[in-house]
Order: sequence, then C-alpha cells, then structure tokens
Amino acid sequence: MNLQTPITELLGVGEQYSRRLEKLGIKTTEDLILYLPRRWDDYSHVVPINRIRPDEVISIRGKVWEISNKRTRSGMNITEAFIADDTGTIKAVWFNQPFLTNSLKAGDEICLAGKVEWSRNTVSMTSPSYEKIGDEEGDLTHVGRIVPVYAETEGVSSKWLRSKIKPLMKLIYGLRDYLPEDIKEEYKLIDLPAAIRQMHFPENALQLKRAKDRLDFDEMFLLQLAVLNSRKKLDHERAIAIPFNEALIKGFVSDLPFKLTNAQRKSAWEILQDLARMQPMNRLLQGDVGSGKTVVAAITMLNAAMSKNQAVLLCPTEILAKQHFAGISKLLKPFDIDCVLLTGSTPKQEKDEIYSRIRDGEILIVIGTHALLEKGVEFWRLGLAIVDEQHRFGVDQRAALRKESLSTKTLPHFLTMTATPIPRTLTLTVFGDLDVSILNELPPGRKPVITRIVSGEKREDGYHFIEQEINKGRQAFVICPLIGEETDEENEKKSVMNEYNNLSKRVYPNLKVSYIHGKMKSDEKEKIMKEFAERKSDILVSTSVIEVGIDIPNSTIMIIEDADRFGLSQLHQFRGRVGRGEHQSYCFLFTKSRTEATLKRLSALAGTNDGFKLAETDLELRGPGDFIGSRQHGTPDIKMKNLMDIVLIKKCRDAALKYLMKYNLENNTVLYEKTKIFDSILYLE
Ligand code: ADP
Ligand code: MG
Repeated sequence: MNLQTPITELLGVGEQYSRRLEKLGIKTTEDLILYLPRRWDDYSHVVPINRIRPDEVISIRGKVWEISNKRTRSGMNITEAFIADDTGTIKAVWFNQPFLTNSLKAGDEICLAGKVEWSRNTVSMTSPSYEKIGDEEGDLTHVGRIVPVYAETEGVSSKWLRSKIKPLMKLIYGLRDYLPEDIKEEYKLIDLPAAIRQMHFPENALQLKRAKDRLDFDEMFLLQLAVLNSRKKLDHERAIAIPFNEALIKGFVSDLPFKLTNAQRKSAWEILQDLARMQPMNRLLQGDVGSGKTVVAAITMLNAAMSKNQAVLLCPTEILAKQHFAGISKLLKPFDIDCVLLTGSTPKQEKDEIYSRIRDGEILIVIGTHALLEKGVEFWRLGLAIVDEQHRFGVDQRAALRKESLSTKTLPHFLTMTATPIPRTLTLTVFGDLDVSILNELPPGRKPVITRIVSGEKREDGYHFIEQEINKGRQAFVICPLIGEETDEENEKKSVMNEYNNLSKRVYPNLKVSYIHGKMKSDEKEKIMKEFAERKSDILVSTSVIEVGIDIPNSTIMIIEDADRFGLSQLHQFRGRVGRGEHQSYCFLFTKSRTEATLKRLSALAGTNDGFKLAETDLELRGPGDFIGSRQHGTPDIKMKNLMDIVLIKKCRDAALKYLMKYNLENNTVLYEKTKIFDSILYLE
C-alpha cells in the first residue's frame, strides 16, 4: 500500500462507501490523509469517577458492570449501563441504539467521553462516545484524547473516517514537504507529515496548535507567492513613460468648478508619478461612493492625452459610459482633444470608423463599455487604461485591456477604480499585486444619508414622507429586483412595471413617475435618464441598472424594494446614488424578510455610511467571493480566519518576498504547481 492506492482497496470500503467518499473528492489514500478535520472534541481529560465535576466534558475509564435495553411506553429504546472504576460508578444512557448490547458486555473495559450530568444522587452521561479497550494496550481513537471531527456527508461519520484514517498514518512520511528547510527553520514550522498527523490525531493541544500554525502558514504563504510572483513578472514589462505636465494639470485643477479634496490631490499625484515610469502601473483607486473618482480619472487621462498618448476608460453599463463621456468631454473641451464613446449600441459603420481612428492613434480618449474589449479595438499608442467599478468585470475582461500597443509594443499603465472598498487584509493578499490609492474623504458639505429599515405596516407612512420631500423639489429612485409585468407569484418580489403602475396610478397620481430597466433600448434609456437628470420626472423606478456611478445630485431619496434580495455592497452602491448634493438624503430599505441574516445585513447598512466598515462586515458575513469577483470560477478555498489575520498575512508576505529574492519560483515545481490554484483570482492571469 502507498499514497496512490485507491481507497477501494482499503479494508471496509466497499462500493457504497467509495461512492460517498468520491463525493468528498477522495479517491486515493493520499486524498483521505489530506481530508482534514473541521474541528476537534477535547476528550483528553481522563478523570477518576469520584473526581468528576458537574457539566465537565471528560473521559473516564472503567469496567461495564451491567448493560441492558429497556423500552419506554412511547416505544423508545433506551440502553442503560453502569460503569465503575476504582473510585466510583457512573450511569450511561443511549437512545435508540439497541445493538449496543451486542458489542458492549458486562466485564468489558471501556472508555467513555462526553459531558457529565448530575442529578440528586446519580452521576450520568447521555449518549457518550465510547470505545472498548482491547487486549493490546494501543492508543485510543474515539475517546480519551483530542478527537477529530470531520465535515460529514450523508453516510460517512467522523467515527468511520477516524477508523479508516488511523491505520494510514504509517504512510504519512511519504508526503512531500514543499516548504524549503530555511523557511521552516526561520518561522519555526513543523514538517508537513508531522503536521498532518497531528491534525488527525493530536498528541496534545500544543502539538495541534503547531500543526494548525504550519497549515495556516502554508495557505497564506502560497497565496503571497502567487501574488508577488505575478507582480515580479510585471516588473519586466514595459509601458510608455508619460511625463507629468505639472503646469497643465495645475491649470486644469484650478479651473474646476470645485476645489479638489486632499485625498483627490494625493491620489492624482500618486498616479501621475506612476505614469512617468517605464514599468506599467498597476494601481487601484478606491474611494467610497461619491468621493469623486471620476475627476481623478479625468486628470490622469488629460495628462496622457496631452503628450499624444491614448487613454481608455471602461465602464460596466452604457448609462454610466454615457454619463462619463458627457462629463469628461465637457471638462476637456478647452484642450481640443479627440474623444469618442464606444458602446454596444454604436452602429456598425460608425464602429468601424472609430476602430480605424483608434488604430491610427488619431482618437486620444476612448470611453465605453464591454464593446471596448472587442477584437477590432487595437490601440496605436495606449498610455493609460482605466476600469471604473472594477468589481463588475471578470478577470478576463480586465485582462483584455492589457494588450500591447501597435506602435510601441508596450503595455498600458493600468488603473482600476472601485467604490466597493476592499478590506485592508484583502489588499495585502488577493489584491496584493496592486498599489492602492485611497479617497478617504468626501467632498465638503455632504450630509450622511439617513437610512431606515421599513417593515410592511410602515409603508404608507414612508410614501407620505417621500411625497413631502418631492414637493420640496427633490427626486426619488425606487429600486426593484425584477423587471416583469407581473410580480413573481411565488416570491412576491416587486417588479419595476408593477411598482411603476402602483406608484403612478395609486400612490402618486399627481407626480411624474418614470421607469427604466436593462431590457429597454439604449436610446430609450438615454432619454429617460436625461429627463430625470433635467427634473422632468420626480420618481424613477428602476432595476439595478442604475446601481453604479449614476450622478444626479438633486435626487435625495433612494427606496429599495425587497432589500433583502441584494448584497451589502450592492445596497451601499444604491444608497450612493443619493447624498450627492447639498440636501439631506434618505434611504428606505423595504423588506418583508424577518430572517436574522437579513436583519444583520440591513442593520449594518442602516448603522453606518462608511463603506470600509461595511466591506469588513460583508467579508465576515459572506466571504471573499464578492470582492474577488470570481465566485463562479471557483475561488480557492482560503480560510476566512486567515484572510482576516493581519499578523499571519504580514509574516507570510515577508517570507514570500525573501523566498522570491533567493529563488526562482518556477524552479521549485511542487511549490509552483501549488501556487497555480490562485491564478484564477489574480489580476494578471
Ligand atoms: P464616485 O467616486 O462615486 O465615482 P463621482 O466622481 O461620480 O464619485 O463624484 C460625485 C460627485 O461629486 C460629482 O457630482 C462630482 O462632480 C462631485 N465632486 C467630485 N469631486 C468634488 C470636490 N472635490 N468637491 C465637490 N464636488 C466634487
Ligand atoms: Mg463613479
């Protein structure tokens, strides 16, 4: 038998069990050995019966004096046993396990483990774990020690797994340890085989901890290696060094209709410094909704374009692309720069013409949607690529912008922007190949949005309040999860069409209500948005198409129907559509759900306007999938606990940096292969 032996060859693993194990991804003895416990029960405390204290979790060793089955009147089977050691007697009770009397007999030496209960004059244990002590005085498996508990699937119990894994421990020294000796020494880590053995059958709490430390280190170290290695590769790439035209930028900034915040100044400066280098920039601009990322992008695009380099801005929706195009062309008007908008609804002929003007380097600024990622788009001299709301794009889509320019064979400097703040621990881990600029202040004069959770009965009061605000001249958004003409019968979720009818006919017959959703034609959407921006309608009922970016400062009310249907970061984005002007803004979260998870999420939102805090909460509640944006591609299973552990992260980052200075990762095949599982979540792959 070796590590590659199929599990079907193990004693007691028939067809049925091998099928069950396969569901857990276990095919060979090695797979079984690497199937690690989820948690442990500490039954290592073996005490004499007369020393037991109430409610303790302990093990006892003794002899069975008496064991018998009884039936209660309701038909339940009770097995009762009395076990004694030199110091006293204890009663054990099991329910509906009559077969126990076949395996446990009076006179057997056994060990019991579990919680002890005291009543007036008996000490007893209910459904304790038990194990017979055989003739050969071996080491116990299920009691009298720290006992592993595995994630169980139907029909595979921890007890069964223990009994199959234990005999395999003799194979464990065949496992290859992929960590270099010097790293193990420096960070005081135990060997991999020892760690795996201690995970399954720990000698004591200390050994178990050392085993966990080793495996946590491995996970984070591999992730850091993957991230830092991809960053190292980028160092060998080239971009166009774009000089920082200070006089021009100063002039532009002083002509803006507002004064930049310090955070905007600092971020723009950081980006402009990066652009001047020959190494491609890889930077994330993160700033809460409304913090003013667009103008920072405009500054850097202007700087690129003025030295005849092209710049491109990729947006997740057509509505947003149009808004950015309108805003940025206006800002850049005095500079006479060729600017175009390219989206899915640009007519074919016009598209072809734009393609050729981009290829010739004639157009310097291109703003658009996914249409920018089509084959025909080839840049003559792309200096800067910006992705707005980066989390809305997949890994491949972001990578598609990183193509060599036709004339210079260089990569663009790359800036991604996000209003979904990425918790710090993630910027050091899965986003660790990025430099980060942060807009940590909002433009002056913004009032925090007041957020309320509204239950069914309070709906009419809400409507009344909203009407008053609209009468003062404000506007409102209403977000619904569905488009449909009817509500979805089963779930009774709100739809745009239904709410539009309800609000325009029943609730607000005197107000102007309009609606928008993703299935509408592009020019229709544009017309609706334009009218709303010009205050020609009071209420806009919408699906999540207006989630990101939309900037209409006169709207101060955000109503979210079936708020429980949306994730925390998405809700925060919706709320970010209001609170952008001088007036007090409100966000109403309508929900029928009463589950704890919903209330937790919604109260977190109501409790703070701070996107960073919400991001941390989101990370805790939902895991990293949303941030990494690759949930559907199967995010490698990084333990949440480790992703939040800044001390571990820093230690592993250090170790990975040192490793990469000393060695070439590609030469250590085992380690290199191990890091590859993280490729899917890294930017560059
Ligand atoms: P986001 O970071 O969410 O993309 P935007 O770039 O859309 O934010 O900016 C939000 C609003 O704030 C816009 O109306 C913009 O013109 C305005 N704005 C940006 N910077 C400032 C500033 N320094 N002072 C005042 N208003 C600003
Ligand atoms: Mg924006």
